[in-house]
Amino acid sequence: MLDNFGREIDYLRISVTDRCNLRCIYCMPKDGVEWIPHENVLTFEEILRICRVFASLGIRKIKLTGGEPLVRHGIAGLIRDIKAIPGIKQITLTTNGVLFAPMAEELVAAGLDAVTFSIDSLKRDRYADITRFDHIDETEAAIRKAMELGLPVKLNCVPLRGVNEDELPDLAALARDHDLQVRMIELMPIGCGKQFSGIPFSEILTSLEERFGPSIPCSEALGNGPASYVSFEGFKGHIGFITALTHPFCASCNRVRLTSSGFLKLCLNHPDGVELLPLLRGGADDEELKKVLSDAILRKPLRHHFEDRGVGDPDKMNSIGG
Ligand code: SAM
Ligand code: SF4
Repeated sequence: MLDNFGREIDYLRISVTDRCNLRCIYCMPKDGVEWIPHENVLTFEEILRICRVFASLGIRKIKLTGGEPLVRHGIAGLIRDIKAIPGIKQITLTTNGVLFAPMAEELVAAGLDAVTFSIDSLKRDRYADITRFDHIDETEAAIRKAMELGLPVKLNCVPLRGVNEDELPDLAALARDHDLQVRMIELMPIGCGKQFSGIPFSEILTSLEERFGPSIPCSEALGNGPASYVSFEGFKGHIGFITALTHPFCASCNRVRLTSSGFLKLCLNHPDGVELLPLLRGGADDEELKKVLSDAILRKPLRHHFEDRGVGDPDKMNSIGG
């Protein structure tokens, strides 16, 4: 459906859990995370109901994210059930990949259409420093497995000053050697992310051009998102830049987000939204739910508020899902 600014909202990102098997330094603290109590987390039946009603309003693409979506048991079944909803055309997953390889066939059989893996370093020690766990082998195996199975693959990398900036060309080289998209995600000042500095897009592009030659802009839309893509001579894939802060893409925003506790977030960095749990558990019927969801989409904010620090600052990326 169209929102009040004429934007077609057809993409729903669902954080299925706030829990995670990693603790990336820019996303979660090492210890003392306050988890959402289990009873306040949406059940799969509740998620499916929301998806069905949203599908009737024009949502066509669904992304499962987290926390780490694969730590929640039964994800393949959820994918299968969402995919079976009339109107849903695509279901994708964003994951750190640690649990992916052994589940890959099951996920594909359930209908998974594409996968995004987060990987910020290809060096064992640095991967472990960033994620606080030594699981690089699992994440790399996941990427290989997804490619073997023919799934479209994207890689998310958050460039961090003084942490992985020297490695960005090596990460980008994965798109030279394989038909996949490597996306450089601008660090957002959310939660632990506030303690780090990102790297400007122009600086990253310069370092890539020094290594790979002049960039070739890509006009084709690659995926559902706001990334702008470039390629380089001899590359099989592309490099994407997602620059929510410095080059906002709010004017073409096509998405809303659902947190694991059932808060419908209308914009990544804006407080407006709706708590759906009381409605779902308070006996609202589908017509009432549909009205609440469509009213919410109509008031989706024009733009995010990253520049007005404090306004709508979410404090936990793991409950929003990126
Ligand atoms: N655990 C899964 C993963 O890491 O792919 C899914 C959830 S994670 C929150 C989704 C994406 O958000 C990841 O690519 C992660 O790198 C990114 N992310 C987390 N905190 C961020 C921040 N402060 N700024 C920018 N991206 C962030
Ligand atoms: Fe977990 Fe993803 Fe956050 Fe890393 S970025 S701590 S993998 S939710």
